[in-house]
Amino acid sequence: MDFDFSKEQKLIQKEVRRFAQEELAPRYSQWDRERKYPRELVKKMGDLGYIGVSVSQELGGLGESYVTEGLVCEELSRGDCSLPMSTQVAGHLCAGLLEQGSRSVQKAFLDPFLAGEQVCAFCLTEPGSGTDAGALQTSAVRKGDAYVLNGEKSGITAIMDADFALVFARTTPGHDARGVSCFVVPCNLPGMSTQAYEDLGCNAIVRGSLFLQNVEIPESYRIGEEGRGFRLAMRGFDISRIFLCLEAIAPALVSLQETMAHVKGRTAFGRPLATFEAVSFPIIEHFSLLEAVRLLCYKALWLRDQGQSSTKEAGMVKWMAPRFSTNAIRDCITLHGHYGYTKEYPLEQRLRDVLAIEIADGTSQVSKLVVQREMMGREFLPYNYR
Ligand SMILES: Cc1cc2nc3c(=O)[nH]c(=O)nc-3n(C[C@H](O)[C@H](O)[C@H](O)COP(=O)(O)OP(=O)(O)OC[C@H]3O[C@@H](n4cnc5c(N)ncnc54)[C@H](O)[C@@H]3O)c2cc1C
Repeated sequence: MDFDFSKEQKLIQKEVRRFAQEELAPRYSQWDRERKYPRELVKKMGDLGYIGVSVSQELGGLGESYVTEGLVCEELSRGDCSLPMSTQVAGHLCAGLLEQGSRSVQKAFLDPFLAGEQVCAFCLTEPGSGTDAGALQTSAVRKGDAYVLNGEKSGITAIMDADFALVFARTTPGHDARGVSCFVVPCNLPGMSTQAYEDLGCNAIVRGSLFLQNVEIPESYRIGEEGRGFRLAMRGFDISRIFLCLEAIAPALVSLQETMAHVKGRTAFGRPLATFEAVSFPIIEHFSLLEAVRLLCYKALWLRDQGQSSTKEAGMVKWMAPRFSTNAIRDCITLHGHYGYTKEYPLEQRLRDVLAIEIADGTSQVSKLVVQREMMGREFLPYNYR
């Protein structure tokens, strides 16, 4: 057993941490206020190789392990725990799909995405299907050597800034996940339109709905086999969910470190706050829980690097990490007293941003169902979960 990162991983960790402190953290609240996608920063991230870390070198990535990609996501999230939901989480899902596209699709979409020049959106959820994603109703109908797409995708991260979208649509009518295919669709095609949401957090990567009205795309824009799209999406989730958890844990750990410094420095009743157990114990409890779930995240990524399944572990961390992280940040706010409630501190924004992770990429409830299916067997599920 080896709990340490390699020498190379530690160097990457140090470099990304410095980048996050210098380039992301100082503008984290400004981007939130202005609802501005920081394209220039994302370009820098592309130049530094921080996007698509595990994509093979032949296809323009760094060809690094999932553990290393997780480390990059965690470190970026110490400076900004919203942006990686687009660049690292949706980014990982989209890159994984584009890797399976034709060479011309890879050149047209994967290359500019890895370079940080184009923004992608992962479009699975619909107004009538979220948790039960396989029941989606957006249609893709063949027309010669093209497909015509119609439908609405909802709740999509960064759709307002996306240059292209990975869209899941039904090629076989019905409600069966096996009739779903995946397509890459440029956002500037006729028939594509969007509508922004006013969200609680993650405001720099504005979510919204995507409407597809008779959008025609060539057959070559289909990713993978017809009817196999849902399976492709689920495979990506086993990794992206873990990145999302590291994205939640990082700001919680930073908040706890800041809170520890605060309660050591501030006094009440003639003593540092840190000497009161009611102050110090919650901090210690949060550190303990977060350290445990962080290790499980890296174990899950390591399993995938070894070619083993991480479905159970991804489900376990997905219900724990965002919940433990929001609990920790909430306590950090109260332990800062009235200052913690102001926008002078990044705590309130972190709480708003991390709360999103309790829902995105699958809720706590469905994550527990995944673990239940893996541990007890499909026959003990309350219904036929896909
Ligand atoms: C910040 C954010 C970013 C997102 N980004 C994207 C994106 O980029 N692309 C994308 O496609 N989607 C995205 N989503 C959508 C997200 O994946 C869905 O919101 C999520 O899967 C839940 O689906 P739903 O909202 O339709 O909730 P529903 O499916 O309607 O569920 C509502 C509630 O019921 C519970 N529930 C449902 N079924 C069961 C069950 N069988 N047992 C127990 N409880 C159940 C759920 O856990 C939830 O609490 C994003 C969401 C958020 C909040």
